[in-house]
Amino acid sequence: MNVDQTSASPSPVSTTGDAVVQLRDVHLTLPSDAGDVNILRGISLDVGKGEAVGLVGPSGSGKSTLLMVLAGLERQSSGSVHLAGADFSKLNEDGLAKFRLAHVGIVFQSFHLIPTMTALENVAVPLELAGHPDPFGKAAEELGHVGLEHRLSHYPGQLSGGEQQRVALARAVAGDPDILLADEPTGNLDGTTGEQIIELMFDLHKRRGTTMVLITHDADLAQACDRVVRLRDGQVESIAAGTGRVLPSDELTGEEVTG
Ligand code: ADP
Ligand code: MG
Repeated sequence: MNVDQTSASPSPVSTTGDAVVQLRDVHLTLPSDAGDVNILRGISLDVGKGEAVGLVGPSGSGKSTLLMVLAGLERQSSGSVHLAGADFSKLNEDGLAKFRLAHVGIVFQSFHLIPTMTALENVAVPLELAGHPDPFGKAAEELGHVGLEHRLSHYPGQLSGGEQQRVALARAVAGDPDILLADEPTGNLDGTTGEQIIELMFDLHKRRGTTMVLITHDADLAQACDRVVRLRDGQVESIAAGTGRVLPSDELTGEEVTG
């Protein structure tokens, strides 16, 4: 499918000006025992600076794969991927890893913390690798921002799921990435804890102006983003405007209510 770029907005081209992400006709085909699988089939999408995009679609539609491509963890088979001005096709594996350290923050459903490192070390080590002048100081500060100043020397196994995800979030944003990618970050958490993580994510996104792509099964949450991109069978099925984040205090219908 080609997204009709001449039709009325919302379009694959972001409305906020500078594109942090620019995907053009991205295909990803992987071999399997049953033959090649076309996982992504011609995805074109821009994400603007400071924009929040909710990525939705049925299981198996390619959401996680697309996020891996955006993170440079999976390479497209054809088409182009630009992120923060970098053309991924011009970077080798080393170059991609370095780029990721400096420009991309990722949060996964299953936290992906290093079990043998404390909360502080989990956040500090990537900063150290990225050449930050004060990785441990910065890591402590970031853990404070997510309310974990009292858990710095705890290991992941000593933390609750919600606390582990907060460490992962601190790690993801500590290097002030150009983009924060999240793959069902609340999928392993209970409703209240998940809501706290989402509050934190949107707070960081808003306060720092971090661009965000958030995969979620939660329609309300997707709607809280600036745009909602729906995938189906490895293609963009639709792009719709979201409402943006509605704060709990003014949560009525999500639409402006008059009279
Ligand atoms: P989603 O996150 O939307 O549920 P995924 O991106 O995980 O979807 O997967 C999209 C499709 O690609 C699925 O059909 C899945 O089985 C397939 N897939 C994912 N990873 C691989 C792989 N490494 N090899 C072959 N097929 C894969
Ligand atoms: Mg997935």
